[in-house]
Amino acid sequence: MDFTRERFEYTRRYVREVFGAQDEHLAHLMERAVAAGLPDIAVSPDVGHLLQLLVAMTRPAGPGPRGQRVVELGTLAGYSTIWLARGLAAGGQVVTVELDERHARFAERELAAAGVGDRVTVRRGAALDELRRMRAELGEHSVDLFFFDAVKTEYQAYWDVARAMLRPGGLLVADNVLGAGWWIDEVGEPNREAIDRFNRAVAADAELEVACVPLREGVLVARKRDAPR
Ligand code: SAH
Ligand code: MG
Repeated sequence: MDFTRERFEYTRRYVREVFGAQDEHLAHLMERAVAAGLPDIAVSPDVGHLLQLLVAMTRPAGPGPRGQRVVELGTLAGYSTIWLARGLAAGGQVVTVELDERHARFAERELAAAGVGDRVTVRRGAALDELRRMRAELGEHSVDLFFFDAVKTEYQAYWDVARAMLRPGGLLVADNVLGAGWWIDEVGEPNREAIDRFNRAVAADAELEVACVPLREGVLVARKRDAPR
């Protein structure tokens, strides 16, 4: 059977039905967000499960010099942030960066209502600026997992800053690597061109082991190789 767009939509619905269970709070979060004027562009619940799972898989083994740290770029309404926070080890934290004050404030309310407000900090500002500040504040190997979901044309610039911050064995996760409204076969679309360059660079990066998970609009998962012994 050809993998047509109709076939893809069928697969997407099936995955969501079988692997997309979520609680009542998350189920209605984006309805509240849309009613408040926020765009309906959050990840789907099946991607949420993947995010929670990946965070749980990067819990530090045993007591270390610091707790687990996850950095998200692009908070929107806090939907993906809640999934990330639910994967954390005890004492772990998510720092999520959002440029739009209205989105940041909305997300903070939802994070508190979901019971993860104490584990999440919403940082106001442009993702690239805040990332540079965090690198100066936190230093090398200070982050267990990055989730990129802000400006698609900036993913490569985010990674240029984030690379040194990611600990060996840590994960780089990026949303919309197969589309965000556009499709990956729409040659010439500017976001598509930037994402295509980013995907190819990451896939060829000797420091990373990389997979693409074609859920929803595509999720890239890359693991920073362990330091040579
Ligand atoms: N991760 C969210 C969706 C994020 S949508 C989820 O899946 O639930 C992208 C978000 O990035 C929007 O809220 C938008 O306001 C924000 N954004 C746009 N430009 C930004 C920038 N330069 N820095 C940080 N956030 C930005
Ligand atoms: Mg996204």
